[in-house]
Amino acid sequence: AYRRELVGSLIHDVPDFPKPGVVFKDITPLLASPHGFQAAVTELVTTAPRQIDIVVGMEARGFIFAAPVALALGAGFVPVRKPGKLPGETISESFELEYGFETLTMHRNAIPADARVLVVDDVLATGGTVGATAALLQQMGAELVHVSVVMELGFLGGRARLAEQGIDNFSAIL
Ligand code: 5GP
Repeated sequence: AYRRELVGSLIHDVPDFPKPGVVFKDITPLLASPHGFQAAVTELVTTAPRQIDIVVGMEARGFIFAAPVALALGAGFVPVRKPGKLPGETISESFELEYGFETLTMHRNAIPADARVLVVDDVLATGGTVGATAALLQQMGAELVHVSVVMELGFLGGRARLAEQGIDNFSAIL
């Protein structure tokens, strides 16, 4: 409980970012705090299922949490990136944003067929990013064991959107 309180106190509300009416959750104070960053990673690690082979993180803030979680679990790290960033053969998934579409990509051969995969991101908002990542994993036949985020913005209904997609193994620190 103390760790979660510390993590929560270091994520700051920024009104009207990136546009008027939106309250952005800023994780940079958390990252800048050695104890806070450690506490966030420890919470993600202790809530992870056993025997994870690969931790998948999404560009860009997901990378920051997914990589140390992978190291702590003794797992590998695989990046999900915006189009045009990965040098090898990729697969892609698009999803709708408020205005327009977003596409995420992953190396086609990044994950062994029998791997147990944990997806880690900083914030779950509408669930579009995690949903597209799950679809990428499904495309390559990988087993999505669990999704962990630091903070869930409950009022945006991301958890319900993931449930509709068949993803109910989800947890948030906050
Ligand atoms: P979603 O796809 O669930 O709508 O949005 C989640 C993605 O957008 C995450 O990758 C996250 O990094 C970013 N995001 C959306 N809202 C926020 C926010 O308020 N704070 C932070 N740090 N990231 C956000």
